[in-house]
Amino acid sequence: MKFEDQRKIMIRSQIEARGIHTKKILDVLFKVKRHLFVPIENRHLSYNDSPLSIGKGQTISQPYIVALMMDLIDIQPEDKILEIGTGSGYQTALIAELALEVYTVERIGVLSEEAKQILTEMGYENIFYKISDGSQGWKKGFPQCNEFNKIIVSAAAPEIPRSLLKQLCVGGMLIIPTGNRFYQELLVVEREEKGYVQKNHGGCAFVPLIGKEGWKF
Ligand code: SAM
Repeated sequence: MKFEDQRKIMIRSQIEARGIHTKKILDVLFKVKRHLFVPIENRHLSYNDSPLSIGKGQTISQPYIVALMMDLIDIQPEDKILEIGTGSGYQTALIAELALEVYTVERIGVLSEEAKQILTEMGYENIFYKISDGSQGWKKGFPQCNEFNKIIVSAAAPEIPRSLLKQLCVGGMLIIPTGNRFYQELLVVEREEKGYVQKNHGGCAFVPLIGKEGWKF
């Protein structure tokens, strides 16, 4: 079956069937060719309902969890988004379609470089890349940006990194899986004038966020 048809089925059976109907999310899931971000040996599995290996012990997340995270933080066209865990660059492309700018951080150099190459070839000009420990956010990154409208963390932390909370603007939202190494809860934290409000969106399982404000190994 053609990849285009597989994408249509993925959207219907994995995303809409689980209750995500936001048109702009469904549209970008159709527009962005997920198979371009999947290593050649796994490409035939690109539209399966599961995460897939991208090498270096890391994964491209399950399509549904990617869609859910973007839906929960309600990305707006004027948003500056910080993404922690570039991975394959697939979610970076989806966010770049929906937001003004994406600042994406990956700790594994080769993954960041491969993602940058694909995303540049695809023509994205609103993505800024950094290879470093994203548990501390976009510290000293280029271009300078200290405050983000939304922060998406696609690796699991033992608790919410304080540096990320500080880099969220008032009215902004952070989404992050937190818990132990094998099971986490998907948390959305909204920054209000006088503090933070947290909501739990249920169980999930991500690779670990490794860094100063994540897991130590
Ligand atoms: N959203 C990605 C995609 O579409 O391919 C999948 C991300 S993968 C589940 C999680 C990524 O987080 C991995 O590539 C991993 O190397 C990265 N990571 C883990 N700890 C990190 C840290 N402290 N800073 C930046 N990236 C980190």
